[in-house]
Parts: sequence; C-alpha cells; structure tokens
Amino acid sequence: MSRIVSNHTSSSCVWLNIIATGALLDDSQVAFSNSFVKKIGCGNNASFWTEHWISQDKLSTLFPRLYRLESNPDARVQQRIQMGSADTIFSWNWIRVPSGCTASELNGLQSLLSSAILDQNMNDTWPWAFASNGLFSVKKLTSIIEEQNQASSSQQGTMRNKLALKKVEVFICRTQLKRLPVKIELDKRGIDLHSVRCPVCDDDLESLDHALVSCKHAKKIWDRIHKWWNLSFSSPFFLEDLISLSRPVSCNAPEIWQALKWIGLYCIWKNCNNLVFKGKPWSAPMIFNEIQSIYFLWMSNRVKEKCFDWLTWLSNPSLYLIERYKQ
Ligand SMILES: [Zn+2]
Repeated sequence: MSRIVSNHTSSSCVWLNIIATGALLDDSQVAFSNSFVKKIGCGNNASFWTEHWISQDKLSTLFPRLYRLESNPDARVQQRIQMGSADTIFSWNWIRVPSGCTASELNGLQSLLSSAILDQNMNDTWPWAFASNGLFSVKKLTSIIEEQNQASSSQQGTMRNKLALKKVEVFICRTQLKRLPVKIELDKRGIDLHSVRCPVCDDDLESLDHALVSCKHAKKIWDRIHKWWNLSFSSPFFLEDLISLSRPVSCNAPEIWQALKWIGLYCIWKNCNNLVFKGKPWSAPMIFNEIQSIYFLWMSNRVKEKCFDWLTWLSNPSLYLIERYKQ
C-alpha cells in the first residue's frame, strides 16, 4: 500500500515538474502547453462532459441541465456513445429520466452527437503539434527553443520598447515572425483540429491577421482604444497595417503609442486562449479594462512625478501623458 502511495506521489511530482516547465516555456513564447491537441479515437480517454471533443464548448456548458442529471460526471466518451454498424448508440445513465427542458436538451445533445466520428480501433491520443508525426521528442523541442531564442534576439534590435514587459516584447516578436499557433497554421502542420474557424466569432478562419486585427470582436477592442484616445479608427485588415498606424499628434513619444498597441495585441491573444482553453467568455469591456490597467501600470512606472491618477488617466490619457511623461 505504501508503495502505491509512494509511486502516486512520485508520478504527481513528475507531472508537476512537466507542467511547471511547460509554463516556463510558455513564458518564453514556445507555447508548449498548447502544443498537445487531443485526437479522439474510440473515446476511451476523453471526458464526455468536461473536455472539448465535439464542440468548441464543453458539453457540460452546452447542456447544463442534463449534466446535472448525469450519474457519473467523469464518464468517458466511450461510456456514453459508440458507433454502431448503422447508427450511433447512446448509453445514458441519468439520476432520473429527463423530461420537459432536460428532454429538449437531450434531443439537442443527440442531434449534435450524430455528427461524431469515433474510431473503435484507435485509442484517444495527444499528438504533439510541433512534430509532423505527432510524436514528442526532446531533440525537436530543443531545436524549437534555440530557434525561438535566435529569432527573439535577432528581432530585439528593431522590436524593443523600454516600457514593455519582456514577455510582451517576446510575444510581439513572435507575431512579427508569424509564429503564433493560430488554427490555420496548426492545420498546415497536419494537426487534426475539430475546426479551423475563429473561436471568438466563428465567422472566418483563424489566421494571425484575423485573430488579432480583423475579427469583428478584436475590432471592437481596437475601436474602444482609439475612442479612448479621441481618434478615428480605420479598421485595418492586416497586422502590419495596424502596427504601422501612425501615432496621434498629441502623443509626444512613439514608444507610448507603440506600447498601447502591443498591450492590445497581447490581451486579445491571451483572451482568445482563455476562451479556448479555459472556457472564459470573451468580454470586450473587460478586455479593454485589462488593457487600460496594464498600460497604466507600465506608464506609472515611467513617469517622474509620483501623482499618477487613475481617473484622470481614464478620462484623457494623451493629455495626461504630455504633461507627465518624461523620456
Ligand atoms: Zn473572429
């Protein structure tokens, strides 16, 4: 018994180490945590209710009433659905029989599941996005990290901003190198994704330009930013055009305006990932507030005078900066 406990503890430590290392790599913009993508085979390893496997939303989110009736919330996909020779076979195990609203939810769920394709001869797997054969290798990971480091240092000469945090600076380098793991790029690498459409609007394919600039939800963020600075916004379609939008006349230092755009890009991408991987709803007002807060933090660390007022900042940042910012 003690051996079992000991093994369990030791394997937990291994996983904790892997997760911690993955987080460090994420910070250095290698995107390790997102590089394993679940591929459903027979459904023996994926949670039916609490993993993204047939929709961009978890089934527990899409069908909350039914989820509450489930007798085993940890059920695997295979325990609830199997492919028959002619039809899909469902194996439900409810606490009580669904009726009323829950019966309608069950119709919706079964309709959604009718599009499921399971392969009874294959286990669920986690192929690695960075290798075309899906197999993780330390050698390949090492070469990606080295490549990333080289790219970062070669870009830093042109992509430096003394106001920016290091991780945002590295993120911007990755966008310039078109190295963000947007779905179109993952698809090109042969990763089998449920969908390559934008997870926020579902109107278009998720490319770098779409995710950060031309998505209607990203545009709302850029529009708010420009209104905050009393500027009109021309809604560019491409990242390069957004980056090169000239600074307002009232902005007395180019790095101030550049820093704001960098924070905008960083927050849009971060919230895109929060939606996909954590199920956190997209909220333009909250993302805009986050941008204002980070920007305030960056700038308040740079102004020479102590009194850097939040409310004045919100009402008119450009005027405020002319008075307070010293290069
Ligand atoms: Zn979109």
